[in-house]
Amino acid sequence: MNLCDYTTIRDLLARHGFHFSKSMGQNFLIDPEVPRRIAEASGADETCGVLEIGPGIGPLTAELAQRAGKVVAVELDRALLPVLAETMTPYPNVEIVPGDVLKLDLKALTAEKFPGLTPMVCANLPYNVTSPILEKLVETPCFPSFTVMIQREVARRLCAPQGSAEGGSFSLFLQYHMEPELLFDVPPEKFLPAPKVTSSVIRCVRRDRPAVEVEDEAFFFKVVRGGFLLRRKTLANSLAAALPGVSKEAVQQAIAGVGLPAAVRGEQLTLEDFAALAAALARTQA
Ligand code: SAM
Repeated sequence: MNLCDYTTIRDLLARHGFHFSKSMGQNFLIDPEVPRRIAEASGADETCGVLEIGPGIGPLTAELAQRAGKVVAVELDRALLPVLAETMTPYPNVEIVPGDVLKLDLKALTAEKFPGLTPMVCANLPYNVTSPILEKLVETPCFPSFTVMIQREVARRLCAPQGSAEGGSFSLFLQYHMEPELLFDVPPEKFLPAPKVTSSVIRCVRRDRPAVEVEDEAFFFKVVRGGFLLRRKTLANSLAAALPGVSKEAVQQAIAGVGLPAAVRGEQLTLEDFAALAAALARTQA
């Protein structure tokens, strides 16, 4: 069955009485070239166990199944389960797990489902929950890589060079743990229904160790997030507002102490800059 053919999809969904849900970010791929390219970009082979998030009717699942040792696909919408039972019949190495990926213990799931295989993630993500899903994937160290399709604007931000205006605290969080790469764009007309925005596929590979060495990771990220709290203000003002126990003078001194200009903004800092600044601020608190 061609799972990207418009008429096939329409008939299949009508037969199962399925209706698209906007709140579950359901935009299904209708060009077979796209899931093929995403699966290819993931680098999955028979040594890999691939976790897919949101299989929909399964076009990417089918491509992954033809490459990987095993595919486990987590689908939130129970209405899609009978559809997937039909479309995944030719692929014995696919297992559908009903549920919300945000509520699952991914480490336990991976250990249970992929013994002897290298785990990885590959998905066309539901756009309304992209950030919490990515955060969870970054914080699950058993995944050495993930290849995901997300909104282009978010993809650009995540892959933005450190210190550029496009980035944000989440980009720095991602780049601290992973090396992201922007692969290719996918226009709205490749989906049913067509979303309002263009999508992009990114691949993130986990670093052997974090991009910078920090003494206290929790405090470091507090400083990173604080640096972006008031985006239109200077870093000094933003950090003074974000760190209630630290005076503005202490923040200004720390900024000067690491060689940054007084009027610098959070977005201009690299991970190295934030690491030096967090260390200087920690010293003022000691
Ligand atoms: N993979 C399919 C494709 O490319 O055609 C569908 C992708 S669609 C953008 C996102 C899918 O994620 C939908 O099937 C939706 O039901 C599912 N989904 C949404 N939220 C989810 C969640 N929290 N956990 C698991 N699946 C979810």
